[in-house]
Amino acid sequence: MLNDLAALYTDNLAVFAGSVFLVGLVIGSFLNVVIYRLPIMLERDWRAQAAELMPSVGTAETTTSTVETVPERFTLSTPRSACPACKAKVELKPDGSGLKCVECMRVYPIRDDIPVMLVDEATIEDGTEVQQPQKS
Ligand SMILES: [Zn+2]
Repeated sequence: MLNDLAALYTDNLAVFAGSVFLVGLVIGSFLNVVIYRLPIMLERDWRAQAAELMPSVGTAETTTSTVETVPERFTLSTPRSACPACKAKVELKPDGSGLKCVECMRVYPIRDDIPVMLVDEATIEDGTEVQQPQKS
């Protein structure tokens, strides 16, 4: 089994390069989640501990941190991807061309198999017509 795989990779450089690329995408995607979510999780834990030790600090409105804007349950696996405009759930369109927000009906395009979750790149779909944003 491993010998077959090694033979395949040594005989076909494109298969090896493709495999390395796919593994890189998976690792990069996971690191992106960790880099975004772990600091928020740690800050939330630290704030909870600080509020426990010094109750007066916990109630003071001192900062407008990202910690206050994320949902109650926030781990590496939850919540799932959400609309950056309204934070509602997004669903894959039936044709696979984009992710559609269930609330504001924005459709975020998928380019090269990567969802582009930018409000400026989204189109608004109301069921009958598609409005394209103005491109300069
Ligand atoms: Zn939305």
